[in-house]
Amino acid sequence: MMAGAVFVYFMSCYVDIAAECRGITEDIIKSELFRSVDFPYDDYRMLYYYSTDEQGIRQLEGVNSSRLKGIVYDNIYNVLKQQKLKNVHCPVMFRYMVPDKIFEDCFSIYFGITNDIRCFPVSYDSVNNVGISYEDSWGAARSYGGDRVHEGTDIMAGNNERGYFPVVSMTDGKVEKLGWLELGGYRVGIRSASGAYYYYAHLDSYADGLKEGMDIKAGSVIGTMGDSGYGDEGTKGKFDVHLHLGIYYGEDEISFNPYHILKVIDGFRMEFQKY
Ligand SMILES: [Zn+2]
Repeated sequence: MMAGAVFVYFMSCYVDIAAECRGITEDIIKSELFRSVDFPYDDYRMLYYYSTDEQGIRQLEGVNSSRLKGIVYDNIYNVLKQQKLKNVHCPVMFRYMVPDKIFEDCFSIYFGITNDIRCFPVSYDSVNNVGISYEDSWGAARSYGGDRVHEGTDIMAGNNERGYFPVVSMTDGKVEKLGWLELGGYRVGIRSASGAYYYYAHLDSYADGLKEGMDIKAGSVIGTMGDSGYGDEGTKGKFDVHLHLGIYYGEDEISFNPYHILKVIDGFRMEFQKY
């Protein structure tokens, strides 16, 4: 009797949630909460597989899909809860209720923006020990270029010196865009195999030979960190030296927060030596 009551309750929730979820995949994907790519786990550093060579250098190998699935479920759950859907009560039950199609569409995005990543975008200086820093400024207000919000993460140079830090591609991919943007300064846009677009902005200079349309390997230097942008071509010095990293996905170029992803891969910086 008890089991029957639970079953009926479960089924009624399932039917309701399926109905409520129908047609709202796009709302989920475009919601700021989903795009913030938050990781609710303490052990989120387990998200990636990696190998370690004889020198102790660790290399990212790809995303742990089952771990990522949990993250996707929790993010969908949080979005639906925020949207006050009346039958979403429990994140564990929810996993059995969310329609497969919605889950798969959402999962493919998170997988697409994380799985191709092989290294942190800024190398570290092993000789002079100059550091970088970044915080979660996703959605913070920006005033230049009209009212808008911050769609990325700023990685700041500890010495504020333009041209000092090499910026490397986080993924294998194709150089899709290269050149000046008023907001982004000298920027590079790289499309990885799974369809994500990684946007590296405010560079001081480009790596020699870098061209639109060329294939690039993860870890290849694409330029140096700078402070270009916020004006006509060549404008520099309007703000502190930093790399603005943006991650976009899909035909609509929806932006996703790189911050938590960067935290996960922080230990996978390439080394460079500045004498
Ligand atoms: Zn920025």
